[in-house]
Amino acid sequence: MAQHDDFARRSLGAPGGRIEIMSWPDDWQDRLTGAVCRFCTEGRPSESRVGLRFHAGEVTDAYLARRAMARGYAVVIWRGRHVVEPHHLSAEESVRFHGEVLRVGAQRAHA
Ligand SMILES: [Zn+2]
Repeated sequence: MAQHDDFARRSLGAPGGRIEIMSWPDDWQDRLTGAVCRFCTEGRPSESRVGLRFHAGEVTDAYLARRAMARGYAVVIWRGRHVVEPHHLSAEESVRFHGEVLRVGAQRAHA
C-alpha cells in the first residue's frame, strides 16, 4: 500500500502545488506481469481503496472514486484475467468490457 500511495503522490504532485517528476514504482515490472497486482488480488470487494462499488457486472466492477479531480468520477475495473492495457484483451473480452463501460457511463449520466 505504501508503494501505491507514494506513486500516487508523485503522480498527482507534491503538497503545496508543486509538480514533481514522476518515476515508475520499484515493482513496476512485477505489476506488468501480474506478479504484483492489487486489482487481481483484491477480489471483487464492495468497497475498495478506490471507493464504493456501485456496479457489479459480469466482467467489471465500477467504483465511485473517493478522491478525484471531478465529482462523480468513476473507475471501471476489469475482473477477468490479468491485463495491463485494454488492447491486451481478446476481441471477445474487449466487447464485454467496453459494453459494460458504456452501460456504467449511461447509468452515471442518468444518476
Ligand atoms: Zn491484475
